[in-house]
Amino acid sequence: MTTARRTNTFTESVIREMTRIANEHGALNLAQGMPDFPMPKPMKDAACTAIHADINQYAITWGTPSLRLAIAGKYRRWYGMDVDPERNVTVTCGATEAMVSVFLALVNPGDEVIVFEPYYENYGPDAILSEATPVFVPLEQPGWGIDEEKLRAAFTSKTKAIIVNTPHNPTGRVFTRDEISLIAELCVKHDVYAFTDEIYEHIRYAGDHHALATWPGMAERTITISGLSKTFSCTGWRLGYAIAPEAESVAIRKVHDFLTVGAPAPLQEAGAIGMAFDADYYNRLSLDYRARRDIMCDALREGGFTFTVPEGAYYVLADFSQLSDLGDVEFAKWLTKDVGVAPVPGSSFFRAGDGGSKLVRFAFCKKHDTLIAAGERLANLQARV
Ligand code: GLN
Repeated sequence: MTTARRTNTFTESVIREMTRIANEHGALNLAQGMPDFPMPKPMKDAACTAIHADINQYAITWGTPSLRLAIAGKYRRWYGMDVDPERNVTVTCGATEAMVSVFLALVNPGDEVIVFEPYYENYGPDAILSEATPVFVPLEQPGWGIDEEKLRAAFTSKTKAIIVNTPHNPTGRVFTRDEISLIAELCVKHDVYAFTDEIYEHIRYAGDHHALATWPGMAERTITISGLSKTFSCTGWRLGYAIAPEAESVAIRKVHDFLTVGAPAPLQEAGAIGMAFDADYYNRLSLDYRARRDIMCDALREGGFTFTVPEGAYYVLADFSQLSDLGDVEFAKWLTKDVGVAPVPGSSFFRAGDGGSKLVRFAFCKKHDTLIAAGERLANLQARV
């Protein structure tokens, strides 16, 4: 007996493997992007209330009415988007499930999907599972910007979709209005879908969040993917969603139904409470993250790393060439076991053999105490390597 070929071409998630190694060695886990501080109390209370009110059976497959209504309301308030909760919203088990459901629902085997590199590791397996051909466009250093000519050249008659993740994991780039306009122009010109990953939309230090669906000609071809994990510090709740035109939503809902039936019912009720928070909540979130970013960046500078300061999201992709001759995987494991700070090896955000060998990613969605402790461990790094 043999396992299916489709699973042979990808490995265990490197991010989650690093979490395991960090736990084994009692290291500070700056690998997997999960907060170590509490989520908002009103949402926790709402979840407990929902459970005690016996909201413990399947929700409607594509999402509980209260959460879909709250999502539609929020997109109207924030982005002026006209979202019909009945026709356009599918609630999923995290943005992760939203993205793979969207791939399976909209991409045929052999279709090309454009992905900026470096990229969040899930997009590779998403393409493999849907038998799509990923076409990689490098983000250019320094600064991780989009090269217009390279992006133009990536669009072909086989292009079905482009993945647009801003704020960007792992680089922390927030795409500019001009970059988003270029992507929109090319999507319209080549009749291509945009699958967005906007999970870090409210964690920004510079620049605005540009929702691609609001660009001319994009509402009918954009699948807006986001979720509650990062905005409300509840990565374990697994609540995400895809906002799509009606025909695309029908297809996405079919895939979602047979993959998972639905996201957790009582947590969706609590999610609706969070989606109704006012602007103060989001402003506070960004300010808190700015303080964490500054502690992290100071610690890494002190430790001898070089990097582009993130404009958004909660990662720093740092170059360690001035510190060590090791490869990224060895360096990440050494840092975890011997220094007690776990990062993710940079190569897990690139195609095999294509880059990241002198990079590691640090997640700073952590309490100040955790980040300060990490800083202390990293401070005398130059003496130890
Ligand atoms: N998005 C987070 C990261 O990049 C969490 C990854 C995961 O485990 N799904 O670390």
